[in-house]
Amino acid sequence: MRAVHDLPGHLLALRAVSASTVEANAPRFVVKSFMCADCKQPAVWTADEQEFYAHKGFQNPPRRCSSCREARRRQRDSGR
Ligand SMILES: [Zn+2]
Repeated sequence: MRAVHDLPGHLLALRAVSASTVEANAPRFVVKSFMCADCKQPAVWTADEQEFYAHKGFQNPPRRCSSCREARRRQRDSGR
């Protein structure tokens, strides 16, 4: 029954792999605070938004708070 003796080491290896995978994913999206470039108010960059940015492939963090971004978007849309 050699196979039974080999099993624990194999399980340990699997656990090590899954643990490192979790570590690689966990610290990616930490809520960050920054100052809005438009209204100079403190704003937060939420984990959801960071994930959205990552999906879009954006390299830079936002420079404006969500309400200023919304206002600019509306201005741009109405300009057409
Ligand atoms: Zn703002």
